[in-house]
Amino acid sequence: MSTDARTGPLDAAAVLADRRRSFDAGETRPAAWRRQQLRALLRLLTEREEELTRALEEDLGKSRTEAFLSEVAVVQAEADYALRHLDRWMARQKVAVPGGLLPARAWIQARPLGVVLIIGPWNYPLQLVLAPLVGALAAGNAAVLKPSELAAATSRALARLVPEYLDREAVAVVEGGVEASTDLLAQPFDHVFYTGGERVGRIVLKAAAEHLTPVTLELGGKSPAVVVGGDVRAAARRIAYGKFMNAAQTCVAPDYVLTTPAAAPVLAAAIADAVRDFYGTDPRTSGDYGRIINEHHFDRLVNLMAGGTVVSGGRHERAERYIEPTVLRGVDPASALMQEEIFGPLLPILEVEDLDGAIRFIGRRPHPLAAYLFSDREEHLREFTERVQAGGIAHNACVIQLAVPGLPFGGVGASGTGSYHGRQSFEIFSHVQPVFSKPTRVDTLRLAYPPFGPVKRRLLRRLL
Ligand code: NAD
Repeated sequence: MSTDARTGPLDAAAVLADRRRSFDAGETRPAAWRRQQLRALLRLLTEREEELTRALEEDLGKSRTEAFLSEVAVVQAEADYALRHLDRWMARQKVAVPGGLLPARAWIQARPLGVVLIIGPWNYPLQLVLAPLVGALAAGNAAVLKPSELAAATSRALARLVPEYLDREAVAVVEGGVEASTDLLAQPFDHVFYTGGERVGRIVLKAAAEHLTPVTLELGGKSPAVVVGGDVRAAARRIAYGKFMNAAQTCVAPDYVLTTPAAAPVLAAAIADAVRDFYGTDPRTSGDYGRIINEHHFDRLVNLMAGGTVVSGGRHERAERYIEPTVLRGVDPASALMQEEIFGPLLPILEVEDLDGAIRFIGRRPHPLAAYLFSDREEHLREFTERVQAGGIAHNACVIQLAVPGLPFGGVGASGTGSYHGRQSFEIFSHVQPVFSKPTRVDTLRLAYPPFGPVKRRLLRRLL
C-alpha cells in the first residue's frame, strides 16, 4: 500500500471497488451521463484555466499561451469532437444476415469496458491524462486517473478540480509515484491506458497480463526529421518550433535530423536563426521557453551533449534547470545521444547521402512514434510514406498533426500499442459487441439439425 502525503494511505482495491459500484449500477452508460460529464470537463477547463496553466508553469516553466495551446485546447477540441459525434459512435450498426439463418437480425454495438486506469507522464501532464479520459467518458466507463508525480503542481490541481466537476462516484484521481502506480496496476481494471517511457511500458504490460487486462501503451522513441529538398529555412522554422516547444520534452518532437552534406550547414544555421526569432538571443530570459522537469533529466541531457559538436546554443544553468536550444553536428551514431530518446532541447544533425540513405538509417532502428519528411517533391513524399514504419507520418510539418482529432495518434512496435484521439478514443475504451437475434416463431434451423440423411445433405449444400 502506498502513502500519499495529502490523502493518506492508498487503498487501490477500494478505489476500484467504488468506481465499479458506480459502473455496475449502470450510472455511466446512458448517453445523457456521458454528455453531462464531457460538458463538465469543458467547464472545468474554461473556468479553471488560470489555475491549470499556473500549475503547468510551475511544473515545466511553460508559458501560459503554450500551456493553453498544447494542453488545455487539445483536450477541449477532443471533448467538443466527442460531443458532436457521440450519437453516431453509439448508434447500432446493422449487419446483413445470410439467407440460411433468416429470419434474424444482427448488429454491432459499442459497450463500455468497465473501470479503466489512465496513467500519465509529466511532459504534458494535463493533456495526457484528460484527453484519454474524454474517450473513456464518451464510451461510458468509470475511470481512475494517476497523473505523474513529477509534475506535482498539475497532479495536485487535477486531484482538487476533477472531483469538483466530474461525477466523483465514477471518476477518481489518485496521486503518487511508483508505489501508487504499482498498487493500482495490481488491481483487475478493465483497461489500462499508459503514456510514458518504454521501460515502464514493459512493467505495465506485465502487470496487466496477470489479469488479462487489455492495454494501450503510448510510448516514445527517437522520431526523425528528414530534410532533402524544398525551402530549407521554412523546414528549419518548423523543426525548431516542433522541437523546442516545452523545452523539447515532447514525445513526437523531432529527436534528430537527417539531411545531405550540402544542406547540413545551411540547415544548422537556419535553425539557430529560427531559435533567435522565437526566443531572442538569450532564450533564458524568454517567457516562452520552458525548463527541464528536474535535475536528474538536466544532468542526463548535459551528459548527452558529449555525443557531438555544439554548433549553436549549448549554454545551461542547473539551478534553473535551463538548457539552451542546442544544435549539434559531427555526431557519433554510437553515442548515447543517438542511442536513447533525447527528450530535451538537443538537436543532432546527421548526414546521409540522399532520401534512400535516410530511410535505411531509420529502418535500422526501432519504429519511432513519428517520422517527418521535409521536401517539395511528390515522389519523395510518396516514397517516405510507403517505406518508413512509424506511429505517424507528417510532411513538411512536425508535432501539429496531433491537433487533427480525426487522425489516430499512437505508436507501432517499440513506440507503442494502440492509438487514440477522435473516434479511436471511443473505440479503445469500448467493446465492439456483436449481437445476433432470432425470433422463436419459426424454426427454420431444423434443416441443420442432425440426423443428416441424403435429402438434408443435398438441401444444405444447395443453401450454403
Ligand atoms: P515514465 O514512464 O517514467 O512515467 C509515466 C508514469 O508511469 C508516471 O505516472 C509514473 O508515476 C509511472 N511509473 C513510473 N515508474 C513506474 C513503475 N516502476 N511502475 C509503475 N508505474 C510507474 O514516463 P515519463 O518519464 O513521465 O515520460 C516520458 C516518456 O513518455 C518518454 O519516453 C516520452 O516519449 C513518452 N511519452 C509518450 C507520449 C505518447 O503519447 N506516445 C506522450 C508523452 C510522453
